[in-house]
Amino acid sequence: MLDLQGLESSLFFETPEEIYRRVFRELKPRTPIPGLRVEFCRFANADSFIRLENGHLHVRISDLLEGAPAPVMEALAHILLGKLYRKPVARLYSHRYRLYLNRRDVRRQAQLVRQIRGRKFISGPAGERHNLEEIFERLNRQFFDGLMGRPLLGWSRRASRSLFGHFDPSHNAIIINRLFDRAGVPLLALEYVMFHEMLHLRYPVDHNGSRRRVHTREFKEAEKKFPRLAEAKEILKRL
Ligand SMILES: [Zn+2]
Repeated sequence: MLDLQGLESSLFFETPEEIYRRVFRELKPRTPIPGLRVEFCRFANADSFIRLENGHLHVRISDLLEGAPAPVMEALAHILLGKLYRKPVARLYSHRYRLYLNRRDVRRQAQLVRQIRGRKFISGPAGERHNLEEIFERLNRQFFDGLMGRPLLGWSRRASRSLFGHFDPSHNAIIINRLFDRAGVPLLALEYVMFHEMLHLRYPVDHNGSRRRVHTREFKEAEKKFPRLAEAKEILKRL
């Protein structure tokens, strides 16, 4: 990668190790520079880590940043070394780093990497009592003329009382709380949760400027088509 910012910078010819050595000297002028290794790793996100071990600094940076301009690398060095040695990070550096991560192309790349590398646990549709594929297809026929493409379907790892289900667009997956696979939990409640998540596929989140509407008016109207809606919601309240 070559851009104007990089060309104009005197840092342009520094290796990542050289950048870390220089920033180290700035932060701790009287301490001899330790042995230092910078490594780019295939993380699922843009996280980076620094560790001091046996007198050696080991920096592991997301390979998402491998092509980042040198000034961004420098900013990250200030952030990581500042964190390690508990020194305040100048706003200039945190701001520069954040700006870079917020760039549209960088965000896009980060999302792709998350999709490909993110180790999301998706159990598969078969539970002990219910098969999510059967439920999905039944509702698909009943409410969507059988035309909805089937996403990945899975049960949550653990039963929880807070989140009944969710649709994850980056993995194209509907995850249903394992609680609904238990004996004594009415099928109606499970069907309603699945239907609700299917509506999230049908009616994407509305981004209106900075406002984000998940349950749009259309969504709510469509949800009313579920028979015994009130009864299903009542069951959820008592779980
Ligand atoms: Zn919802």
